[in-house]
Amino acid sequence: MIPQAALRQIQNILANGKNFVLTTHVNPDGDGIGSEIAFAEYLQQIGKQVRIFNHSVTPENYIFLDPDGEIELFSAEKHADLVRACDAIFILDISDWKRLRDLGTLIQTLPVPKICIDHHPSEKPFVDLDVIHPPASSTGEMIYELLTQLGARIEGRLAQALYTAVMTDTGGFRFSNTSIGAFQVASALVASGVKPHEVYQKVYENQPPQRMKLLAHILNNLNYEKNGRLAWFVVTQENLQATDTDVPDTEGFSDFPRTITGVELSLMFLETKEGKVKISFRSKGKYAINGLANLFGGGGHPYASGALVEGRMQDILPRVLEEAKRLFD
Ligand code: 5GP
Ligand code: MN
Repeated sequence: MIPQAALRQIQNILANGKNFVLTTHVNPDGDGIGSEIAFAEYLQQIGKQVRIFNHSVTPENYIFLDPDGEIELFSAEKHADLVRACDAIFILDISDWKRLRDLGTLIQTLPVPKICIDHHPSEKPFVDLDVIHPPASSTGEMIYELLTQLGARIEGRLAQALYTAVMTDTGGFRFSNTSIGAFQVASALVASGVKPHEVYQKVYENQPPQRMKLLAHILNNLNYEKNGRLAWFVVTQENLQATDTDVPDTEGFSDFPRTITGVELSLMFLETKEGKVKISFRSKGKYAINGLANLFGGGGHPYASGALVEGRMQDILPRVLEEAKRLFD
């Protein structure tokens, strides 16, 4: 999972540097945030300085991983010089510049060493040192392997962050990426003191009532195609305003229609404030959908992908549905 040559390069980078920057993708999830917090804890264990810059705010249900607010919202104006002056940048759970937004635009141009640790399939090389392993259940599983090999003390907050990463990216050990490796890492983390029910409660039993209102609206307005094999729904800015919710509140909603008997493919079309449409693609396992996401400039895993498309809902939706329906032919 972590090639020996990459491990040695990372050891060198860490030994020769003092100040490090970590980041993850926009709309960060439990895997991105958990991986950042665990890696940051390790850097602190070995006496390094670390700053974590994200493009978007940490969703409410992951704040328990970062009670002191170590994760900072990136601002080019405030932080560009700091990023420029660091000894290396670690990019976690993402290998696509677009999903790093303005932080990506900045670091792409910097001569600072860049290391990517990710499990998303990627066709082209990304940065100086790519450690990309799609068979891994999560980036958290990879960080666990890396930190173990680096000799980290896997305990406390670090262990809890990694458990959160593996648990959330496997949908609570249910999705098709729930591998032996995921269970092995989870088991080791539980042995080191993590309490699964506590993490579960913090992440999943901590939902704002407004989010449930939005979910109720969505479930009442599901659409079906192809004899119930394709389910889709739309979330507009108006829906968000009416329920007093925002984009992060929709995390995980695209998984719901997939739980319906006969549904193989589920699509969420989310209207963003910036006049774009964010599409989430979910498959039960018969049809890989990352090719479909690629057609619209996105990507992801075979059974969970996404894309952000510029344009209006009424133009984009029919085009995506038409392509999605073709998968069943
Ligand atoms: P979600 O639908 O939960 O936002 O994303 C599901 C998966 O699709 C993510 O883990 C990520 O791999 C991928 N993904 C989501 N949005 C994008 C996007 O805009 N571009 C690419 N390349 N992948 C995305
Ligand atoms: Mn991930």
